Amino acid sequence: MNTANTLEGGKVWLVGAGPGDPELLTVKAARLIAQADALVYDHLVGDGIIDLARPDARRIYAGKEASKHTLPQGSINLLLVKLAREGLSVVRLKGGDPFIFGRGGEELETLVDSGIPFEVVPGVTAAAGCAAYAGFPLTHRDHAQSVTFVTGHLKDGTVNLDWPSLARPRQTVVFYMSIGAAAEICKQMINHGLPSLTPAAVIRNGTLPGQQTLLATLGTLPHRIEESGIKPPALIVVGSVVGLHEKLNWFEK
Ligand code: SAH
Repeated sequence: MNTANTLEGGKVWLVGAGPGDPELLTVKAARLIAQADALVYDHLVGDGIIDLARPDARRIYAGKEASKHTLPQGSINLLLVKLAREGLSVVRLKGGDPFIFGRGGEELETLVDSGIPFEVVPGVTAAAGCAAYAGFPLTHRDHAQSVTFVTGHLKDGTVNLDWPSLARPRQTVVFYMSIGAAAEICKQMINHGLPSLTPAAVIRNGTLPGQQTLLATLGTLPHRIEESGIKPPALIVVGSVVGLHEKLNWFEK
């Protein structure tokens, strides 16, 4: 393990910052953030995490809220190349895990094409963080033998997913970036065979002090979302494991 307190320059570390709670950073992520010359971070990376950087580190906000891109993806890719070419050690910080709905792969391809060395550090993805802090085990021998992570926000704006497979029983489905598509998701899951009483939940700001959990069923979730005005960043979790929240919830108590 490299524990020296400086990092090699001219290189990029693509690092998962976890779902929110700074204590869910990996030891490696915390060390790299504390040592980097420059940090390029997305909006889901909280201040508590950026505060771990050196006081003299360059901090560059790359934004990226749905439909409110601060820097277009192409410019972020080129920025990473530019900073590395200046000889800096660059930490590219992404919420959750960089390879789960994080476009981390696209950024790395540009680095490879430009001959910039890199490493990747995984992080706790939002589904795992939210499930842990909301008390829904994503798999459970009595409820779900598999779990699927899917995005509710496709490149072309549609929600054209493989509904027959998502609506199979005895699994948990976690929809990222899905609040805007909740009505369509619930309708399709019911039309493809899941009972409208199937438990479904929204978790917003999971693992953070303001975590909110909305418990409903496929039949009632769209209305509950509308009524509560709950906004992103949030996940939708569908499956009978959601019913365990009442017993296993420890964080929001
Ligand atoms: N790479 C990230 C996901 C990026 S996509 C990861 O592995 O978690 C962004 C989406 O992740 C948000 O729209 C939301 O659906 C989800 N998300 C991220 N952090 C979250 C949090 N703390 N609580 C609830 N959902 C979150």
